[in-house]
Amino acid sequence: MPDYIGRFAPSPSGALHLGSLIAATASYLDAKANKGKWLLRIDDLDTPRVVKTAIPRILKQLEDYGLEWDQAVFYPSQSIQRYHDALQHLFDLNQAFYCDCTRQQIQTRTGDLIYDGFCKTKPLNYSAEKAIRYKLADTENLAYQDLIQGMQILNPITQLGDFIIKRRDGIIGYHLACAIDDLEQGITHVIRGYDLIESSFAQRLITQQLANKTLFYGHHPIALSSQNIKLSKSAQSLAIEKQDAVQNLYYVLKFLNQQPDADLQTASLNEIWYWAITHWNRQAIPALGQIKL
Ligand code: GLU
Repeated sequence: MPDYIGRFAPSPSGALHLGSLIAATASYLDAKANKGKWLLRIDDLDTPRVVKTAIPRILKQLEDYGLEWDQAVFYPSQSIQRYHDALQHLFDLNQAFYCDCTRQQIQTRTGDLIYDGFCKTKPLNYSAEKAIRYKLADTENLAYQDLIQGMQILNPITQLGDFIIKRRDGIIGYHLACAIDDLEQGITHVIRGYDLIESSFAQRLITQQLANKTLFYGHHPIALSSQNIKLSKSAQSLAIEKQDAVQNLYYVLKFLNQQPDADLQTASLNEIWYWAITHWNRQAIPALGQIKL
């Protein structure tokens, strides 16, 4: 097993945009500069949001940008049983409970959407339309050292809440799916956008609980549009195109504060990647949540 296995895990809800390219590039360079593997997972569990045409499009975009993944693409939807086994395991550990609260009820009770533990102590029985939540222990703050942002501290009860691990519509919750998939793929390092930093606390709890494993996490700043909106598929940010590959990669390297030489703007794809891998400096990435483009 190599010491470093990284990954990029886009949701196939649309084509990759500049924000996705930042995440792909940062995770790829961190893996390659550390002589690691870089795996590709298409996060396709949230079926109502899956756009079928997005999958070949994303694969083509990555190829066009010279982002080569090291193993067959991993599709979580092709092995659903793993999540059901994990849910059962969490019930066996008394670490999961059923919940029939609606978002509206939670919002009315708490003023936000952080779950208040309402169903935690009333033993609800199984029924298909109930959600399942991860049962947080009444613990002190959680802390971990982020590879980019430094020490992170969060109070699980007030800042995370017992999070959903299976939704009412039957879809496996993101935190559970992501943690199980990272374990399944043998991931050691997760480099992704700052918008997912709180997720790392939830995912760390699950990998520790189910496999006694802890991964390394690093969260790079995310890009905001000039209107202060996060670049995203749901905000219909522009898809990245092949003809802009070198320019876009140059831009991403600047965004990640890698200080690329100006002449790389007219280099070939191979040249810019060679430069980027050999000059990669994770420490130089700004420890910020967001940067406006
Ligand atoms: N698929 C999710 C996304 O595109 C998250 C992936 C991750 O955990 O890196 O935002």
